[in-house]
Amino acid sequence: MPHRTETDSRKLLRRLRDEMALANPGQERLDRITTIITESMGVDVCSIYLFRDVDTLELCATEGLKPESVHQTRLRLGEGLVGKVARFARPVNTANAPAERGFRYMPETGEEVFTSFLGVPIQRLGERLGVLVVQAKDPRLYTDDEIYGLEVVAMVIAEMTELGAFTGEGTSFATPHQNPAMLRGVTAQEGEAEGQVWLHQPRVVITNLVNDDSRAELLRLEAAVETLRVSIDQLLASAGTRDKDHMEVLQTYRMFAHSRGWMKRMEEDIRLGLSAEAAVEKEQSTARARLERVPDAYIRDRLHDLDDLSNRLLRILTGQGNETGAEMPERPILVARNIGPGELLEYGRKLRGVVLEEGAVGSHATIVARALAIPLVINVPRITTEALNGDHILVDGTEGVVHLRPDDTISSAFRDKMAMQAKAQERYASLRDKPAQARCGTTVSLKMNAGLLADLPSLPNSGADAVGLFRTELQFLVQDRMPKRSDLVANYARVLDAAAQRKVYFRTLDIGSDKVMPYMNRPDEPNPAMGWRALRVGLDKPGVLRMQLQALIRAANGRALSVMFPLVATASEFTQARDTLLREIERERRMGHTLPEKLEIGAMLETPSLAYAPKSFFEAVDFISIGGNDLKQFFFAADRENELVRKRYDTLNVSFLTFLQVIVDRCHETGTDLSFCGEDAGRPVDALALAGIGIASLSMRPASIGPVKSLIRRANLIEVSELIARVQARGLESARPALLDYVAMLVD
Ligand code: PEP
Ligand code: MG
Repeated sequence: MPHRTETDSRKLLRRLRDEMALANPGQERLDRITTIITESMGVDVCSIYLFRDVDTLELCATEGLKPESVHQTRLRLGEGLVGKVARFARPVNTANAPAERGFRYMPETGEEVFTSFLGVPIQRLGERLGVLVVQAKDPRLYTDDEIYGLEVVAMVIAEMTELGAFTGEGTSFATPHQNPAMLRGVTAQEGEAEGQVWLHQPRVVITNLVNDDSRAELLRLEAAVETLRVSIDQLLASAGTRDKDHMEVLQTYRMFAHSRGWMKRMEEDIRLGLSAEAAVEKEQSTARARLERVPDAYIRDRLHDLDDLSNRLLRILTGQGNETGAEMPERPILVARNIGPGELLEYGRKLRGVVLEEGAVGSHATIVARALAIPLVINVPRITTEALNGDHILVDGTEGVVHLRPDDTISSAFRDKMAMQAKAQERYASLRDKPAQARCGTTVSLKMNAGLLADLPSLPNSGADAVGLFRTELQFLVQDRMPKRSDLVANYARVLDAAAQRKVYFRTLDIGSDKVMPYMNRPDEPNPAMGWRALRVGLDKPGVLRMQLQALIRAANGRALSVMFPLVATASEFTQARDTLLREIERERRMGHTLPEKLEIGAMLETPSLAYAPKSFFEAVDFISIGGNDLKQFFFAADRENELVRKRYDTLNVSFLTFLQVIVDRCHETGTDLSFCGEDAGRPVDALALAGIGIASLSMRPASIGPVKSLIRRANLIEVSELIARVQARGLESARPALLDYVAMLVD
């Protein structure tokens, strides 16, 4: 095989482009490509294998192997040398293929006479599409230039595949993104939704893959990279130095944008005949393929940064913005790699659901999705590469599963499930004005958790007695600057207006841990969940807390006001917080503002220590609200954000229930109002247990009120209490099995 030059490569790419310009059927195009490659590379064989399904490769075209093996020869992922190329997304280059480990002889192809083998992956943005192979009789290794050249050709084939160049009758091959796909992720917000994909960052479409003039193309790339560098410098100049994470990302962008290696590879791609866009995307694809293989979180983050940077560069080169001109579908399901809370809030209630490739259960975006009451599935691998704008999509938030382009059987089963849910919702709606009164006569007060104005439209329909937890920090998190006191006053006043006669328990700022405000300086802490957070910050640096308390008093404007402090660990912390509030009341009085007609001051019990505070503490507080999410993480020493341990310990574990009973008894003894506002309060069986041990007020997300109310109304809390006592007496570890049996026996 003659040594290949840049001119050869460019000629080959141009021939491919010209071939594609002809309106030939898909199979003919594939066949012609193999002929062109064989001729221009001076090899004996060229074959194209494409994925038929996720783990089967099919020989779709060949020049040199027996024609009858086309669409007959199939290999599994990892099988033979071709399967190996596909599995590891790396070239295989050997002078003696039959002697190579993993070689698989396929008699129907007649390939035994060809000794040398070079296979490269056909991949696009980390998505494996197939394998391109050249073979020859003489036993020789291919040079680095030849491998590189073949990768460039493979990239062009990948792009053509994406553009649907090979579809049509007889090809037995569909464009990727046409087949149904079921992708599994993690539940971040339950619920089901059906709709069409709406990509948060639509892909840049590249139509010119091959260049006519490398020199002009190199200049285009240079100019675009210069624009990119300037824009990053501007971003860096305008970013506040306070947001360390943001700064770090921008610094990485800058480093990549000035990277000689990156630039050199793209320049080389262009010299071989690719357009500037195709060169950027080729390097992006390589980075994505690496991303799939690196376990190290730091390196993955950096590769993501490179991916983002490549997208920016592509947008500069093509002039395509996020605005593609496409119209948002009627039932949009947002698909994104990740999204910030502010951006998600901007989409608002238009969205039916959200699917993220990354994300975290406790992230701010998750909190917003909950406020919007839309199903959210996170950590869904490959969703942003698999999904195209407008694709039919089913989101099963409860199971953490996404069906993309589902077939009819899946769609109809899913619709049945949704119909059943809708029926259940109707049943819950009919209970809306009825109390959560158990068969024994005890009534449990059901309240809702909220944190954004977006939550409040659900209040009247939820059947909630009050807003049992209003997480005030969310307003601070969804914007990129510290809100002013007047903003807070307006916001709290609207919350109180929306709640009308119902009480709202405002929780003061609970920042730190997972809730970090980008515009505030934060120390680096080894373990932020147990660090300087919530009330600890409020007491040490009272400026923001005081502003917030003033805003609450003004927003109440004579109405009743309930304030609770988060993460109170000792009685004295509560006393200090209460004194701060009382001082603000006094100050507001002096300034002539109307004071609340009634003021309740409470504490959130989120650390085991507070359960054993002196009796005087229980007498001093107006109410206690158990923050079960935090309390449980500290009780079991299991980080609520850590997927490895998050679900390890059950709320109905007898140790935990016994501990909660201590709190119930202490509140009972002092006549202190007690409520529970962690996520568990919204899980019907857990809620039943909490009510059974004597917690008479439960605060939960609005969608849970119906199911919890329905179960409590069917149950007898005395029986539940006795059942838990029996489980305790028998020394069992969890009350869940017994409770599930009990619930199963209840009549509808
Ligand atoms: C809790 O910890 O249970 C709680 C309600 O507060 P958050 O989830 O906001 O920490
Ligand atoms: Mg908490």
